[in-house]
Amino acid sequence: MRLFFIAAIACFAAAQERTKVYKRCPRPTEACLQAQAEAYLNTAWDGLRVEGVGSSDPVRVVEIEAESPAEHSNFKVGDILVSLDGQAMQDWTNEDLIKVMKNLKVGQNITYLVDRDGKRFDVSITLAAPPVDMVAGWIGRHFILHHYVESDEKGSE
Ligand SMILES: [Zn+2]
Repeated sequence: MRLFFIAAIACFAAAQERTKVYKRCPRPTEACLQAQAEAYLNTAWDGLRVEGVGSSDPVRVVEIEAESPAEHSNFKVGDILVSLDGQAMQDWTNEDLIKVMKNLKVGQNITYLVDRDGKRFDVSITLAAPPVDMVAGWIGRHFILHHYVESDEKGSE
């Protein structure tokens, strides 16, 4: 009896791992849409997707988004980002990155120190607002996962 109970719990835990449970957004749909559209459409966007933040690996560009400020500058996939406006990026956590990005403004000029095959040089870009269809994708994802998909849990994002 006891063994069965433990086995049942183990199965339940394994099932939970496979289907991620998304927390229900506490905001009403209309208010959430307004808040998100306002925030995202005014987000400063450079178009660089990186990996290695929050780890001992270097911060490396893995993708450059189409029609972004980064695409129209001298960036290449594989570039290592050494610093942003003089602040070394190696020890940044994800929270540090988010904090820095939130303080940047559309139209602002920023300079990355880039390492490409051991050569270091500056790349400056002017931040833009993200394209509307990209913002639509981000917001759509939030609504599907946190408003539409059934979930027992209540919580933020
Ligand atoms: Zn929401």
